[in-house]
Amino acid sequence: MTRRWLFADQLGPHFDVGRDGVLLVESRRALGRRRYHRQKLHLVLSALRHRAAELGDSAVLLRTDTYGEALRELGEPVRVYEPTSRSAADFVSRQLENGRVEAVDPTPGFSLSRNDFQHWAGDRRRLRMEDFYRFQRQRLGLLVEGDGHPVGGRWSFDEDNREPPPKGADHLDVPAPYRPREDDVDAQVRADLDRWERDEGLETVGRDGPRLFAVTRREALAALDRFVTHRLGAFGPHEDAMLRGDWAMAHSLLSVPLNLGLLDPVEVAERAVRAFHDGDAPLASVEGFVRQVVGWREYVWHLYWHFGPAYRSRNGLGAREPLPQWFDDLDADAVEAACLSDVLAGVRDRGWVHHIPRLMVLGNWAAERGYDPDALTEWFQTRFVDGYDWVMPANVVGMSQYADGGAMTTKPYVSGGAYINKMSDYCGGCRYRPTVRVGEDACPFTAGYWAYLDRTADRLEGNPRMARPLQQRHRLADLDAAVEQERARGAAAP
Ligand code: SF4
Repeated sequence: MTRRWLFADQLGPHFDVGRDGVLLVESRRALGRRRYHRQKLHLVLSALRHRAAELGDSAVLLRTDTYGEALRELGEPVRVYEPTSRSAADFVSRQLENGRVEAVDPTPGFSLSRNDFQHWAGDRRRLRMEDFYRFQRQRLGLLVEGDGHPVGGRWSFDEDNREPPPKGADHLDVPAPYRPREDDVDAQVRADLDRWERDEGLETVGRDGPRLFAVTRREALAALDRFVTHRLGAFGPHEDAMLRGDWAMAHSLLSVPLNLGLLDPVEVAERAVRAFHDGDAPLASVEGFVRQVVGWREYVWHLYWHFGPAYRSRNGLGAREPLPQWFDDLDADAVEAACLSDVLAGVRDRGWVHHIPRLMVLGNWAAERGYDPDALTEWFQTRFVDGYDWVMPANVVGMSQYADGGAMTTKPYVSGGAYINKMSDYCGGCRYRPTVRVGEDACPFTAGYWAYLDRTADRLEGNPRMARPLQQRHRLADLDAAVEQERARGAAAP
């Protein structure tokens, strides 16, 4: 008989619990090791305790200081599924040597095994997301027909999915997302976290608030169903748009239950594809969602292992600024720039904003200011409720900061205020103006964009996709003034 030790992100039925019982561990030290968002700790603890309650007598839930202590207390060897972080994998390897872990099985948390990814990667020079995504679609038979052609004639409908928000609207006209109802388990989690903060020096960041994300299998299925039935159709066209009064837009809010291991990514993608075949959701929306779930999510998971531990500290553009206190503390009230203030408030209040505020407001801001990519990765990992060690390196170091020398993307994701103005309703209510580069009204994103190009020109020069903007900067009569103005701004909140 060998019990299965399930980590706190392996909580759905596809992580087979077998007949020999389950070990779940609540490690007090793991919770306090980093300055996590308060709501992130709540979600993880709530999910773990709910799973323990569901499994009843077949589960042992141990509350210890460390994982090692828990294994010693259990006093018998366990089987595990591959953990999702390097530090947990190292820990498991050491336990394999001392016999406390008997075997490590491939994780069912992702559709493609690490071996199969290595096989796919082979000796490709560039691991392009588009290639990986196509491979996934064909392999899983998602939105493909005949001998492997994409339904609708294209693999990606991304171009159809970049609409700005509807004119004049302050929210999208879609039914609200699934909202879980808190229970006694949540009340106990909240009381424990309050006590640990008060009496035991647990440091968190962000505000507490009602639980917004699914933490049980039942809730996760309800959230999936509500999204596919009522919101998926509107998801595609406006997936890149932002509205001050609509934090969720038509996004699925499934990254939390997916990353807790409550949903199998293939079942999620298949559910969306079924909606398309049943005529309930348009192809562009379904394709965009499938790409997130079995494309992008799995791609960043595999790159985490493929690129290795040194990837996180890559710093190809020489960005070395520390994160300023106001940014680190999510002090949205210190910020006057309407977009950045609202997005930072979203992180403070919910630990979640969708991918465009992450990429084009927070990441863009950090890139323009030259924040250290490793520190920024840590920030995203701990401030976001769906952030994990495997999630953020490729997203932040690669996609957002272009700090990996172009291993993932062909150009940096930086832009001035014009993009934010086009894709949101922020600029109308802002004290700055997106078109202005210099002076009192100068938009810090616009001025920051030119200052960024000026600072990184030497390193970006050979990049054909950056040739035009780099050239354009020489035509600006006020470039020096904008650069000087942004230098003088320093680390101050805009
Ligand atoms: Fe953001 Fe600039 Fe628009 Fe203000 S003007 S909301 S700082 S992009």
